[in-house]
Amino acid sequence: MSAIANEITKIKSSLPATTRLIAVSKTKPVEDLQQAYDAGQRVFGENKALEMRDKHEVLPNDIQWHFIGHLQTNKIKYIISYVSLIHSIDSCNLLNEVNIAAAKKDRVVDCLLQFHIADEDTKYGLSFDEAQVLLNSPEYKAMNNIRIVGVMGMATFTDNQDQIRQEFRNLKSIFDRLKEQYFADNDSFKEISMGMSDDYPIAIEEGSTLIRVGSAIFGKRNYAV
Ligand SMILES: *Cc1c(COP(=O)(O)O)cnc(C)c1O
Repeated sequence: MSAIANEITKIKSSLPATTRLIAVSKTKPVEDLQQAYDAGQRVFGENKALEMRDKHEVLPNDIQWHFIGHLQTNKIKYIISYVSLIHSIDSCNLLNEVNIAAAKKDRVVDCLLQFHIADEDTKYGLSFDEAQVLLNSPEYKAMNNIRIVGVMGMATFTDNQDQIRQEFRNLKSIFDRLKEQYFADNDSFKEISMGMSDDYPIAIEEGSTLIRVGSAIFGKRNYAV
C-alpha cells in the first residue's frame, strides 16, 4: 500500500459515521490524487480555481470537488459546472455571483457560509451578524441556484488545544443558532466543516461533519499557500 493510501485508511477508520473526510490536495500532483482515488477516496478539496479545473479535467468523473479557498468572482467560471460544494462563501456579493453562474449552467450549487472564528486578522469569514444580514436580505431570498447547507471555519494556528476547542465550539454554536433561526425545516442544512491535519480529532469531538485534511495524507506542501 502507498503511504497516501495508508494515511487515508488510517484516518477513515478513526472517523465516526457522521464525519466525512475531504482530502485536501492543493499543490499536489495528479499522481498523488490518483493514489488517493485508488485507495477509495472520492472527495477532494482544492483552494485555487484554475488548479482545480486542471485536475478535474484529467482525473475520474466520479470525484466530488470541494472548493475550500478564497474564491474570486472572476474565477467562478472555472469551477461552477462541476463543483460539488463551495466552503468559502464570505459575502452576499460572492453568493450572488455564484448563483448567477450556477443559473447559467442550470445547476443548484451547494455552499457553506465561512465564519471567522480564529483570533487572527488574516483569515476570511463572516461574523454572526453579517450572516444574519445576508440571510435576511431580499437578494438572498431571490437566489434559486444556490443552497446553503452549513458552515465552515478555521481555528487559530496555535498549539493551545483549549483555544482551538473553544473556536470549534463557537462554530458549532453558530451552526445551531442559524439552524434554529433560518433552517429549522431544512434537512439539507447539516454540514459543519472544521478540522485540519493538526486539529481534526478535536473538531470531530466538537461536532464536525467534514474534516479537511491535507498534509497528514499527502505530506508537507513545498510552498506556502
Ligand atoms: C490547506 C487547507 C486545509 C488543509 O490543511 P492541512 O493542515 O494540510 O491539513 C484545510 N482547509 C483549508 C481551508 C486549507 O486551505
